[in-house]
Amino acid sequence: MMQTPLRIAALLEHAAKWHADTEIVSRNTEGGLHRYTYHAAHLRAKQLAKALLALGIRPGDRVGTLAWNNHRHFELYYAVSGLGAVCHTINPRLFAEQLIYIINDAQDRLLFFDATFLPLVEKLAPHCPSVEYWVLLTDRMHMPATHNLPGELLCYDELLDREAADFEWPVFDENTASSLCYTSGTTDQPKGVLYSHRSTLLHSYAASLPDCFNCSARDVVLPVVPMFHVNAWGIPYMTPLNGCKLVLPGPGLDAASLFELFESEGVTFSAGVPTIWFGLLQFMREGKRQFSTLRRMIVGGAACPPALLRAFDEELGVEIRHAWGMTETSPLGTVSTLKTKNLALPAEEQQQLKNKQGRVIFGVDMKIVDDAGRELPHDGVAFGDLLVRGPFIVGDYYHATPPGQLTADGWFRTGDVATIDADGFMQLTDRSKDVIKSGGEWISSIALENLAVAHPAVAEAAVIGLPHPKWSERPLLVVVRKPGQDVSAEELLRFYEGKVAPWWVPSAVEFVEQLPHTATGKLLKTQLRKDFAGYEF
Ligand code: ADP
Repeated sequence: MMQTPLRIAALLEHAAKWHADTEIVSRNTEGGLHRYTYHAAHLRAKQLAKALLALGIRPGDRVGTLAWNNHRHFELYYAVSGLGAVCHTINPRLFAEQLIYIINDAQDRLLFFDATFLPLVEKLAPHCPSVEYWVLLTDRMHMPATHNLPGELLCYDELLDREAADFEWPVFDENTASSLCYTSGTTDQPKGVLYSHRSTLLHSYAASLPDCFNCSARDVVLPVVPMFHVNAWGIPYMTPLNGCKLVLPGPGLDAASLFELFESEGVTFSAGVPTIWFGLLQFMREGKRQFSTLRRMIVGGAACPPALLRAFDEELGVEIRHAWGMTETSPLGTVSTLKTKNLALPAEEQQQLKNKQGRVIFGVDMKIVDDAGRELPHDGVAFGDLLVRGPFIVGDYYHATPPGQLTADGWFRTGDVATIDADGFMQLTDRSKDVIKSGGEWISSIALENLAVAHPAVAEAAVIGLPHPKWSERPLLVVVRKPGQDVSAEELLRFYEGKVAPWWVPSAVEFVEQLPHTATGKLLKTQLRKDFAGYEF
């Protein structure tokens, strides 16, 4: 067979050649829609590659982005990696100190950003000496008259306009680094995960599989998951590979703006975290609306509450596929879809399988182990630390890998705790640091949270383990009520009866105005445990 290295630029080259007139539609940060084709996007990516070279970027250099899902960010994904440099997508929702830490750790030489983030970039700039040029992702007309950046602020479109599109993508080893993304630091300092062309291409094939995204040249794909987070779950690569029409929503992630784009562009497939879909569900219910084209979506990044899955399926005719992954797994690890044998099960049991985080996609292997590292049975009951390995799983962090993060025989410790059943469905019970141990037995905080949000008066819920004199730890349920709802602690606790073992029922309920979240919208339980330090049941 031919020794053709797997390269990211080949994806766009393929789409430009074989899906030349398929569209990429993107909502501009300044408002209005931008519309072009894979053919035109490829030409712009080539112009950008030449502009990057002109700015002194060389293979291996890191180029930072702070940007929404839009066509310019898409061009950066391809031009930076296509050159052999590293596209470092940065999450603007992180705290300023984390952003400064990340940019310095990566030693980014350029920083491309959307106008929304100019005030933020002005704050960061004095602390980021490695950045030589700041580039605003806009055209000449929208450049600000003044700014507080050290040195010149460059205009993205102007850089491209100076270059011809006669660039040939270089061919290099497929193990060359292509992009860099830092974990959101839910439990620790952010850590860099460096992807390669090979890992990205293999992950794109895996993402395309029928039991994963199952997207084709007949799909219109809108990633709600931001392109600054884990390469937006592989969608910017998977779409040119399959010739899907791509719709990029820009900064407008509210339910009304999303619904408008879903309808006007005929979106069939989408992906995002549960919070976004709760907002959309409420919007759909309020206006008694229905989708005309949306058929399927992937929900992951945090546990998808069964109530959400059921509502989209039964009320809106949209199939939710629950997926699990992390920055370290590129990110797709498991997706919950049924096997033929599962179709004979009663509806309720099928539903319970779909609620799980799902089965591995090819390219990922997983196991669960006890504290001594012994493998646990796949019986859907035993739970232990979840370990994974494969060609798109992190081998080492960029810079410091904490000791013990990888096992001696080459498995990555996810920090998640899970069960695996006889059919291979994995279900997360907790993050290892969030596990509640009561009287020597583990209680799943995720299971208790999922049940709490199924109560009609509950907007959001978190369960944490707090010290208890007799049981060493007991669960506390912390609840945000929906506006105008006045449910009592007793009623919420009664709601658990018959649904979980009696000793799983939380020992107390506290009501709060809001819960602490990380930059990526996950519950920040470290903060919550601090807030309730010294609590007495
Ligand atoms: P960070 O680890 O910094 O929070 P990631 O985005 O990489 O950033 O988060 C990965 C983690 O998110 C997983 O290890 C897991 O704990 C959680 N997670 C992802 N998908 C799911 C899911 N479907 N259900 C429950 N938790 C999930």
